Order: sequence, then C-alpha cells, then structure tokens
Amino acid sequence: MNTSEIVNTNAIFPKGEKAPADYFTGTAWIKPLVPDDRIFNSVIGNVVFEPGARNNWHTHPGGQILIVTDGIGYYQERGKPIQLIRKGDVITIPPDLEHWHGASHDSSLTHIAISTNTQNGIVAWLDPVTNEEYNTLTK
Ligand code: MN
Repeated sequence: MNTSEIVNTNAIFPKGEKAPADYFTGTAWIKPLVPDDRIFNSVIGNVVFEPGARNNWHTHPGGQILIVTDGIGYYQERGKPIQLIRKGDVITIPPDLEHWHGASHDSSLTHIAISTNTQNGIVAWLDPVTNEEYNTLTK
C-alpha cells in the first residue's frame, strides 16, 4: 500500500490537492478553507506535509498565523535556528519576515495557515530550503 493511500482517520479536513512543486520540496497537500475577500482580508487553508516536506523560503506581506493540529515539524526564521513545532503550537509570523515551515524528518505535520491583511499581498516565494539548511537540526 502506498503511504499516500493510508487514510488518517483523525484528520479534521480532507487532504486537498498536492502543493505545487515550484514552491514546495517533497510532498505536501493543501485544502482551501476560506478564500480571500475584502470582508475578512484573510486566506485560510489546511496544509499537510509528509515527512521531509517543506515549503520554500517566503514572506507574507500581511503576516501569517499557523495553528498546528497534528504531527511534528520545523519552523525557521531567517538568521535563526530551526524551531521544533508540534500539535497545539500557534506561530505568529510578522509581515515581510523571511521564513519556512514543514514536516520534521520522521513525522508528518498538519497546520492551519491563516494569511492575514491580504489587501497587502498573500505570499512572496523565495528560494527552496536546501537539504543542508533542512538538516541543521539533526547535526
Ligand atoms: Mn508562511
């Protein structure tokens, strides 16, 4: 059985669609929950990262809030060490701060991503997180 066929019966949301390879390393899934509009100025989505998967370095012109609902993962801000994040953690990311997030080496990670103040922009993608950068926590 392919691991992607294993159903997580504890999952809150469907996995959604595969995240674009242009902006993600490894396999991740995105389920849109709330679309952008000028009433809430927010985009909300659920993201599942399989072990080893992460998004590129990026910024959010209006900031972002991550609510971790399952698993163990990594969060890193430019110039700082990787932080271990796990189910129950809430991460607030100020506008224009370079960062990335994703699963740990051995565990998947699921988080709800809330991009705020979207009238200022949603995301600006940068370079992929290299294996050397991703592996710094295990050295
Ligand atoms: Mn982000």
